[in-house]
Amino acid sequence: MNSLGEVIGTPAAQPWACGCEDCRYGLIYPPPVDTTVPLYILRAVQMKRNMLTFCTCRAGHMRRQHLRRVLSKIESGDEKIPRAMGDEIDRYLKETSGVPTVRYVAPDGREIKVTA
Ligand SMILES: [Zn+2]
Repeated sequence: MNSLGEVIGTPAAQPWACGCEDCRYGLIYPPPVDTTVPLYILRAVQMKRNMLTFCTCRAGHMRRQHLRRVLSKIESGDEKIPRAMGDEIDRYLKETSGVPTVRYVAPDGREIKVTA
């Protein structure tokens, strides 16, 4: 299936974005997804916590750039994380990683809790 869903949730216009023989959508063995949190947000949080291994292929390079932009929007507050979504991210991360609490603080001082 040639889907770019893992990246932007729309059908693939660029076959390379699906990745190479070593990866899927630029990620090598990414953590399983069992949550209602939008995947691009979840992957951005996982990148922040060093939970992702990016492939060296074009898809991996583009995926890293995309998630950096998403993470930047989360940290700046441009990408809103509703409380319910934050709670869901907490639950997911507790079940999948057990890594200590991480909180993002936006430039204006607001604390955005996206992991626990
Ligand atoms: Zn690859």
